[in-house]
Amino acid sequence: MAHEKSKRLFSAALQVIPGGVNSPARACKAVGIDPLFIHRGEGSTVFDADGNRYTDYVCSWGPLILGHRHPAVVEAIEATLKRGTTFGAPTDLEVTLAEMVVDAVPSVEMVRMVNSGTEATMSAIRLARAVTGRDMVIKFDGCYHGHVDTLLVAAGSGVATLGIPGSPGIPRAVVGNTISLPYNDLNPVADVMGRKGGEVACIIVEPVAGNMGVVPPEPGFLQGLRDLATRDGSLLVFDEVITGFRVAYGGAQTVYGVLPDLTCLGKILGGGLPVGAYGGRRSVMEKMAPEGPVYQAGTLSGNPLAVAAGMATLKALAGKGFYDALEEKAQYLSGGLEKVFGYAGHPITVNRVGSMMTVFFTAQSVRDFETAKTSNLDAFAQFFRQMLERGVYLPSSQFEALFVSAAHSQEDLDATIQAAREAVEILQT
Ligand code: PMP
Repeated sequence: MAHEKSKRLFSAALQVIPGGVNSPARACKAVGIDPLFIHRGEGSTVFDADGNRYTDYVCSWGPLILGHRHPAVVEAIEATLKRGTTFGAPTDLEVTLAEMVVDAVPSVEMVRMVNSGTEATMSAIRLARAVTGRDMVIKFDGCYHGHVDTLLVAAGSGVATLGIPGSPGIPRAVVGNTISLPYNDLNPVADVMGRKGGEVACIIVEPVAGNMGVVPPEPGFLQGLRDLATRDGSLLVFDEVITGFRVAYGGAQTVYGVLPDLTCLGKILGGGLPVGAYGGRRSVMEKMAPEGPVYQAGTLSGNPLAVAAGMATLKALAGKGFYDALEEKAQYLSGGLEKVFGYAGHPITVNRVGSMMTVFFTAQSVRDFETAKTSNLDAFAQFFRQMLERGVYLPSSQFEALFVSAAHSQEDLDATIQAAREAVEILQT
């Protein structure tokens, strides 16, 4: 495959954009290639600047659960565009989307829209601190909640991929209030809460981790967090930026039956445009300005185009049987991949929750960041490159989730499994 135009664009980008990308996860450093510049997408497919065609399992890192340019989403954006792009004033669209979120997500009675997942978690942390009058935050190793100062400790996603412990530029005093503990292990949480529960504003967790690769919560983990938070008057925050509308319409909280105090949303909620949101009980959310004293604002928050795209997406997701059909596709793909690696005698562990999954290049079961890190990153990188050569665009890191969308066809899935069969055969380990 020729990648000349992508290479040229990347050289130009390197001159004017740090690292040539506007978000580190796109850089493809961990898999030893330069990033592909994507020209356009259609359904399950993306085309790069050189005209190469790929089946896309990145799906913009989660938002595109309907695939690229879903007709209903395009139509909603076009219709809204005729009214304008932004007013900095309330619109009817925001009320409707907020009502849809409140109907969908069991723990949410009120919701505030922002422009990214980072803004959502940052604001939720501020609110939790304001409500409790406490400063400390508990998070989990390998979870990623955006590039919020407080939360950039032992983080997953690009931070894990690039192997950096945190980030310079964050005051020690800020991260001094953050405690990061192993995922899926209640004992250390109970221990910290036992000693410092009275100082903990919130426990924030990805209810299904997606940023160290996919790691499902073990039975009792989320409920255990719920119980400890309730006991000590801390808030439980579910970061459902990936899982919201992904693992089920109402998010992971409906799947696992544990309700947080605050929920962060993003990705799918914006239907492919920049959106985040955070919500919870009325009594807590009413602490936000202008109703209450906790300040948070945004020039483009609740942007009409983004809200319209989100509404059109949610309407499609609410259709009968949507998640069952998606589950079937994802199960077919994970089953197919497991078989292919199994026949080749190549040890992998596939973790999957609904349409989010990760093929870990390790024989160990992956239940936290430590076990995720037992993966053979070189084998992963080889596999990634072989799949790319065969027209399959996977997330370029072992520590990310692969997403199946409604646009993936049976032919796509079969071609992907066939590509994996060929790729595995030439893996050198
Ligand atoms: N939370 C989670 C769970 C995420 O996966 C991400 C981004 N991948 C974020 C928060 C941050 O969202 P954004 O990139 O929109 O700021």
